Amino acid sequence: MTPDLYDLPMDYYADAVFSEPGRCWRMVYDGEGSGRPMHCPEPVVWVGNHRLAGGRQIRVWSCDGHREGVERAAVATAG
Ligand SMILES: [Zn+2]
Repeated sequence: MTPDLYDLPMDYYADAVFSEPGRCWRMVYDGEGSGRPMHCPEPVVWVGNHRLAGGRQIRVWSCDGHREGVERAAVATAG
């Protein structure tokens, strides 16, 4: 069975999480005062699952500082 992990509705933007291989799943505000969120630029260390409010799980990649909320985290290996 293949879960449909990648067809999340766009209105999940408010949760500020996303699923993209090799990039940290969290959004952060940039340091220049624009107030615009941007993708966390930290290098990915972990890969695991994140449970959305509705109970669905998405595959997420995380830097070391954003591991909280990642379930069954494992070390992400390059390639
Ligand atoms: Zn991060």
